[in-house]
Amino acid sequence: MADTDVLTGRRAFIRAAGTAVAAPVLSFGGGAFAAGAFAAVAPNGGSTADASFHSVVFPPPPLAKQPFQLLPTGAIKPTGWLRRQLQVQADGLGGHLDETWPDVGPDSGWLGGKGESWERGPYFLDGLLPLAWQLDSEPLKSKARRFIDWTLDHPWPDGMFGPRGNDDWWPRMVMLKVLTQFHELTGDARVIPLMTNYFVHQLQALPARPLRDWGRMRWQDELVSVVWLYSRTSDPRLLELAKLLQAQGYDWQGMFANFPFKAKVDPEAIKKEAGAGDAFMEDIGLQVHGVNNAQALKASPVWSQVSGKTADREAVHHQLAMLDQYHGLPNGMFSADEHLAGRNPSQGVELCAVVEAMYSLELALAITGDAAIGDRLERIAFNALPGTFTDDMWAHQYDQQPNQVESSLHRRPWTTNGPEANLFGLDPHFGCCTANFHQGWPKFTASLWMATADGGLAAAAYAPCEVATTVRGVPLRLEQATDYPFRQQVRITLHPESPVAFPLRLRIPGWSPRTAIKVNGQSVAAAAPGSFATVERSWKAGDTVELAFDAHPVAEAGFNGSHSFTFGALVFSLPIRENWVRWRKRGLTADWQVYPGSRWNYGVSAGARAVASEHALPVSPFAGPPPLTLAVEGRPVPAWKAEEGAADPVPAQPKAAVDEPATILTLVPYAVAKLRITSFPVIASPS
Ligand SMILES: [Zn+2]
Repeated sequence: MADTDVLTGRRAFIRAAGTAVAAPVLSFGGGAFAAGAFAAVAPNGGSTADASFHSVVFPPPPLAKQPFQLLPTGAIKPTGWLRRQLQVQADGLGGHLDETWPDVGPDSGWLGGKGESWERGPYFLDGLLPLAWQLDSEPLKSKARRFIDWTLDHPWPDGMFGPRGNDDWWPRMVMLKVLTQFHELTGDARVIPLMTNYFVHQLQALPARPLRDWGRMRWQDELVSVVWLYSRTSDPRLLELAKLLQAQGYDWQGMFANFPFKAKVDPEAIKKEAGAGDAFMEDIGLQVHGVNNAQALKASPVWSQVSGKTADREAVHHQLAMLDQYHGLPNGMFSADEHLAGRNPSQGVELCAVVEAMYSLELALAITGDAAIGDRLERIAFNALPGTFTDDMWAHQYDQQPNQVESSLHRRPWTTNGPEANLFGLDPHFGCCTANFHQGWPKFTASLWMATADGGLAAAAYAPCEVATTVRGVPLRLEQATDYPFRQQVRITLHPESPVAFPLRLRIPGWSPRTAIKVNGQSVAAAAPGSFATVERSWKAGDTVELAFDAHPVAEAGFNGSHSFTFGALVFSLPIRENWVRWRKRGLTADWQVYPGSRWNYGVSAGARAVASEHALPVSPFAGPPPLTLAVEGRPVPAWKAEEGAADPVPAQPKAAVDEPATILTLVPYAVAKLRITSFPVIASPS
């Protein structure tokens, strides 16, 4: 089939229909920047900058040692395709949401207005802020600063902060994440006093006004900011607060130690709980809530910083294993179309869960040093994240499906979400994802490289970027040139101001059996797949490190014995011809339905082998045409149908059509196909 036509057709249609009123123009910042680009920006309000705010800070004793630490926000700038992707975000809703969505508009409670005063302002800022600095965009910086200045300049007399319209702990947990990033970018001297006053207030208030509902399930996200502040002030009251948050917070580790939720959640049970009033917020509806579970992936590693226990640090692996075993999807996520939904690839996963899982894994990778978490992070970042947006990032889905044969208002097999949940639009189903998606790409960018506890640097995930940091007291710039994950070569060039010896750690993905590493053209020993290779030497300006990964097409077994195909960090899907229909106009953007225009019910044979082909890298690689395709033989499976716009669960061992020939299916990266089959039934062998 002519998959190129399908893809060209979609873009042409979107262009013709004018979804993006303010037609985004891709700008190609060459990505070159001087170390001076990281110099402090003078904070507003006449305040001064704290000293060495852009240094790497590891948690001090008695907090546990950890192998890696994130570099300060702003130390890593995107280049190459990643910069172009972030520019797409900025040219789409990422940079314009406040102009078209009142919830983060001029009347936001986080600007002192009477509008939305809960989580949406902080969610938006959590991504807008790092995006603005990564692109060095003055208009976006000033958008972000308005919210932050209002927040920093309007604390309550008792130490609380934020809009006076509510005193909920939860939205403040999000804003704390924003303030820590802002301090790392600017050293603004208002941040640390405000956070200290707030935590002292909370320490004395929590016994009488304990964590509840969302805040109780998401306590670990606040703990990240508490540890951040302790690492800068060593105020012993912060350790007391850390322990109180854990004591009042939900016991995620306990839930997964004996994991009871092994099947698609029954919506009737949820409704019954909801009917019981407040019990809903304390019980099953929150335990099996997808976004809560995504945020909970950081709970044990972050708590291990305080407890010092190896068992806490390692618990995240069991958590991931349970989610994979009972709810795993081929795009790297677990199903949760609001609530955990089993392994059927026609179930959905919410965009908030995607970006929150990424953020959790970024922290878990730093705290555990486990290379497999980097593999997982990349699978989500390169597949599930871009796979749920339109190419121009002016519209997104609430729920995406790995087997997504239609995006329409038909009823879906969701646990509890509504009929709009997999439309592409401004705020389909509910606006949390509209506010929260912004952190996905910028925080991924910010975690590509990390500092190591022994004074070196670690490549945690791969994408084109530049790093400016200080290693063992020596200012150092590093360029990482690559078209990964669409190509398998990475070239790193180091520019220390003067020669400096330190270990460089390079993540070797679990799927790369024979990785080649060269330093200045000379081969060095690689490490086992799924670990970090270490190159320790004296580095001087112009030294290069070249990596060549060894990716192969792999058929992974999934739900009902189905097969999904991967090549390195990318998951591949059969694209279905897309007919985009604008349902309604929404300010600067629109809500869309997408109907299938080609056959999708194909199966593959057991042992089917896929063959990879490279094609030119387009400007926006997730928008197509595909820079990499896999060819695999498939056969029509007429009994596999769709009901109400959702593909039936992949049948186990179906029969192939007897009167139709086998055909070569051209699979494209998951995110390139907005209608797609990702899990293929494995056809019964003729008896
Ligand atoms: Zn959401």
